[in-house]
Amino acid sequence: MRKQTNAEWQRARADAIAKIPSPHKRMCLICFLWYRQVGSHIVQRHKMTARQYRVHFNLEVKKGILPPDLKELYGKQALENGTYKNLKKGKKFRFKKGQSGVGIYKRSPITQQRLSGLYKLTKKYNERTNHNPNNFGKKRPQKIEGRIS
Ligand SMILES: [Zn+2]
Repeated sequence: MRKQTNAEWQRARADAIAKIPSPHKRMCLICFLWYRQVGSHIVQRHKMTARQYRVHFNLEVKKGILPPDLKELYGKQALENGTYKNLKKGKKFRFKKGQSGVGIYKRSPITQQRLSGLYKLTKKYNERTNHNPNNFGKKRPQKIEGRIS
């Protein structure tokens, strides 16, 4: 029998660990194994980008797939090492309302659902507060009835 190489041994060990589900891991929807960073796994093992994976499985394209503890950790690290400042630098590249071409892509069903939820919430808010978005920026009519002079 051929001797197992180091790489084979390591891969077998990683696969054995990946078979153990955990709330601190995310499951890969292609091979049903569990990983801390499923995005990296997808790139390495399935030769596709994490974005392609999210599009394929109708996940939210612009939302990462991290277990909650890791998401929190990376958030803290971004504050500590100052990488959050890159958000300011990237502001000029953000999509502007009415802009054509850039930033237009097919939204996943999850995103559409979330957005429609937001839309409903906004609509409900506008109804409750009697706010008409079409009047935005226009001067509100002054109430004069009932005024004692
Ligand atoms: Zn996989």
